[in-house]
Formats: sequence, structure tokens, C-alpha cells
Amino acid sequence: MKGYGGRILFVDCSTGASRVEALGESTARALLGGNGLAARLLYDHVPPGIDAFDPLNAVVFAVGPITDTTVPGNSRALVAAKSPLTGLFFDSTFGGRWPATLKRTGFDAVVLIGRAATPSYVVVDESGARLEPATALWGRSTRDTVNALLAAEGADVDAIAIGPAGEKRVRFAALAHYWKNREAVSGRGGLGAVLGSKNVKAVVVKGARKTEIADAAALKALLEETREPLKKGTAALSTFGTPFLVGPINALGALGSFNLRREVFDQARVIGGESMKEHYHDRDTTCLKCPVACGKQYAITAGEFAGTRAKMPEYESIFALGPMLGIAEPEALILANDLCDLLGLDTISMGVTLAFVCEALERGWLSEKDVGVPFGWGDWRGMLRLVEMTARREGFGDRLAEGAWRLAESVHPEGTRLVYAVKRLELPAHSARALKGLSIGYATATRGGSHHDTRPTPQYAPTFDRRSTADKPAFAARSQHFTAVGDSLVLCRFTSERGFGLFVDEPYARMVRAVTGWDVSAAELESIGERIVNLERLFNVREGVRRAADTLPWKVMHEPIPDGPSAGMHCPPDELAAMLDAYYAVRGWDPDGVPTATRLKALGLVNP
Ligand code: SF4
Repeated sequence: MKGYGGRILFVDCSTGASRVEALGESTARALLGGNGLAARLLYDHVPPGIDAFDPLNAVVFAVGPITDTTVPGNSRALVAAKSPLTGLFFDSTFGGRWPATLKRTGFDAVVLIGRAATPSYVVVDESGARLEPATALWGRSTRDTVNALLAAEGADVDAIAIGPAGEKRVRFAALAHYWKNREAVSGRGGLGAVLGSKNVKAVVVKGARKTEIADAAALKALLEETREPLKKGTAALSTFGTPFLVGPINALGALGSFNLRREVFDQARVIGGESMKEHYHDRDTTCLKCPVACGKQYAITAGEFAGTRAKMPEYESIFALGPMLGIAEPEALILANDLCDLLGLDTISMGVTLAFVCEALERGWLSEKDVGVPFGWGDWRGMLRLVEMTARREGFGDRLAEGAWRLAESVHPEGTRLVYAVKRLELPAHSARALKGLSIGYATATRGGSHHDTRPTPQYAPTFDRRSTADKPAFAARSQHFTAVGDSLVLCRFTSERGFGLFVDEPYARMVRAVTGWDVSAAELESIGERIVNLERLFNVREGVRRAADTLPWKVMHEPIPDGPSAGMHCPPDELAAMLDAYYAVRGWDPDGVPTATRLKALGLVNP
């Protein structure tokens, strides 16, 4: 098969044994790779109803046919498991160089099951896998761990590691990969905690296999045609990184602040991309062979934190650790973001969980004695302390480590009304109230509060009617197909959206035809996206998800945005119910949100 290694590696961490299975062409064409392949593997290998920390849970690392080709943004991989936060199917992608190196091992997916008896790391090379002791690395930061592994295994390897948070099974623990030109984080869903529950500190990859392309000339022609739109579309990302979004989204009245009390933030300018670049930009960083270089390294040159060098906080991290907490101190955001990366924490879940704490403190549902340190709106020193306590489950950090939803349940009978989460996953920085496409998108997302199921990007276009619910269920479904296909190829979202289009269409079909040689149409790709979404839904249905779970945060349904350009917007329960009816009809699911036999048959999922 062109575009594939054609092999899947299964590693039993309990015994160290591994085995190889062939990836059949029919499976590859039905699911592409990455997301689709991970959904298949988790559906087939994770028994229903188990705890996410059960050794029977599996962690899948997967790449796709586009990985390690010449397509911009091709060095992207995906981690998937049953999430300890949502208890459902979850996948999260990351860049850097690790993804291309995994592809060079000749394995399209690596499946880790079991639990090592002692702290270990996994090395995957072209011949298979071995487990090595990692006791000396336990307790160390993600960056220290990766650097130690490069020293031990050689500079040509790549490593991704968990930090103390993953070891302590913090339900939103992340994984981080460091390469000289880019730091990359797989942040969401607590997949780092699943790895930690397996006593696996890191996964190291080493390989030199080349990805064969069916029609190099056709791929070259496509890339030449898309070079200019890509360059133009990514100009702001190249210049400022994702923080460039702070200004325009705040201007739209869609930047959540003070735990959603408002959706404007008066001090947005000082934490936006332009100002951050002016004061802190040190150098650009980029994933392997990507011309965009949306990553930035920052340096603080004066004041209390002079000498600090750290990765730029992404837009999502700025939202969660900044406006949501009433914090407008850019250096605090740089420090908090770096701390989360080093300790291995998802910045979005961390910030949104702390935002709940701020409001609960204000209401008297929590006291300073409960929290153990002074904290409240705008208190960035308290935030930094609580981030550390969370990663190590110290004191109140042990409760924060459970995520906003579980913490709120333990705090007050109405605690969850203050939580900005869907399916217990804290929401990111794209408004569930000001963008109706995201109201239905979040409610129906496999992962819950994720902006990588239904995409916000098309909804920010001036021509997009973000206020009306008309056609939004169909929009959400189509956008979910797009993200499922993109994460199965596996492509960076920034390069794909801006270079090849916001929905599955002919450019993607041309890309897949050129790489694989299959005579794939855009319609077939759309149907692959639908198949993957349905497979994920089947996983979740098996875990008990029905219509009642496809809901929105209480504030989104009951508290209109109070002021600013989106004043009055929210998604009341009857409006959500009408959109859900329409969405299930588009999907061919029954009124309770369960895929029907007819639609499953049409998608080739008769015997899932
Ligand atoms: S656009 Fe940014 S995240 Fe995407 S591949 Fe390029 S450098 Fe990496």
C-alpha cells in the first residue's frame, strides 16, 4: 500500500511482549488511519464499561497516509484512549518531529495495553518494541524526561513523555514532545494519565523507512496550486501564532471571561498576539518541514521573571489561564503555560477548573481554608501555586486533579451549574453561546467540549450567519466529517483548513489519490468521515451515551451573554432540543441519538 507502513504494533506493557498485525487495505481505505484506525482499534480492544485506568484500556498512537509526505503540516500524530475525564472515546493530536519518526518505523499505529510492573518507557523501532526502566525518570518534568531519553537513546530518536501529572493520574494530564525546532503537546482528555496508569513515562520512536507515494507529480501539482492560498491564509499564524485570535474574537464578543460571566475582556489587548510579540518574541518554531512556523519561543528580558524562556501560550491557553480567571498579566500566562507543559497538564482544563473555583469562592461555596492558598479573580500567584498542587495532587490540588465537573459535584449540590464543560470536558476558547454552529457542535461532539470536532474557523467568516440555528445541525455534521478525515490522514488543522479547504472536498480527494493511488472521490472521503464519527458514537453509545448526554453547560442554556457585541446570545434548552432533532435526522440516528441499523449498514458498520 502506498502511503502506509502497513503494520500495527501491539505492546503488552504487563509482559513487555509485542506482536505485529498487518493493516489490511480494506481497513485502510475505509478508515484512512490516525483517528479512524484508533476508533476501530479501541472499539475492538477496549472492553465496554471498564475504568479508564484499568490495564485493559489501550493507548493508541497513530499516524496516517499523509504523515511524512511533502504536504505542509504532515508531521502530526494522534493519541487515543478511553478518557479518564469523559469516560468516552478520546483522541488528541500533536506535531513536532515525533509523528514523522513514528511513520518511519513502518508502523501506522502502536497499541499499548496492560500495565508495567515498574516505571518504564517504550522504545519503538522498525523491528518492534522494547520496554526500558524509567524509575530514574519518575517525578521528572516532561522536558527533562525527553532530554534524558535523547541522551540515552541517541539524537536521531524522538520522545514524547508525561510529567508528574500523568504519573499522579490527574484526569486532564497531557503528553509533551520536545524537538529542537518545536515543542508539541497532546493536551486534551487526560490521555497522559492513562499512560501514567500503565506506568509508562514516555514513548520513544526511531526509524528510517520512507513513505512511498503513488503519484509524486500529482501531489507536487496540488501543492504548487495551494502554496499561495496557504501562505496568505497562514500569514497571521506565521507572524503572531494563535494568540492573534485574541483581538478579533474579543471584538466579536465571544471571548469568555470571569468563568463566562462576560464574553468580552477589557484588557484583551495586553494578552493578544500583537502585544505579546512586541514584548516577548524570541524566535519562531515549527513542526518538521512546515513552512508556517506558527510556534513561537518567548523570552522575558526584564522584571521579576527576567531570563525566563518558554513556549508561547497558545490562544486556548491564554483564554483559560487569562480572561477566564480575570488575569491580564502576560508574564503570568507565559509562566503558567510553561508550568503546565512541564508538569504535563492540559491548560484548557486547568484554567477552566480554576475559573470554577474563583466563582465558587466568590459564592462562599468554597473557602480559602478549603483551597489552602489565597486565590480569587486575577490572582496569578495563586494560580501558579494551584497548578503545581494539581500536578502533584497536593492538598486541594487532589480535588482540582479530578477536573471541573467532578470537583463541582463535590463542592455544592448546584456546583455543576457553574462548570463550562460538555461530557465533563472543559470547553475551549470558542464560544458555545456566540456561535450557534458550536452550540450544536459541542453538544454532539464525541469528545464533548472540543473545538476539534465541529470547527469554529468557518464560523468566524464575516459571511457566516453565526446567530441563526438554521442549517447549523447539518453544518456541525459536515464539519465533524472534515475533522475526522483530517485527523485520520493525519494533517495539521491550520495547514489543512487554510491550504486545502474548510470541508472535505476535491483538494483532499486529490491529495489522497496522489499519495495512495486509490481512485477516491470527495464523496467517498465525506462518507469515510461519517463512518468514523459513527464508529466513535458506537463506542460512546456502548458506554451509555444517549440524547441526555448531548447537552450544553447550564450557563450556555440559561444565562444570555450580558453585554458586548454578542449580548443576548445563548442556547436555551428548547432551541438545543430542536437542533438535536435535526442533527439526529441528518445523521440517520434515532431520536435518542443512537445510530440506526440502516445508516450503519450504509456505512459498512453492520457488525461493529
Ligand atoms: S502550522 Fe504550526 S502546528 Fe501546524 S504543522 Fe505548521 S508549525 Fe506545526
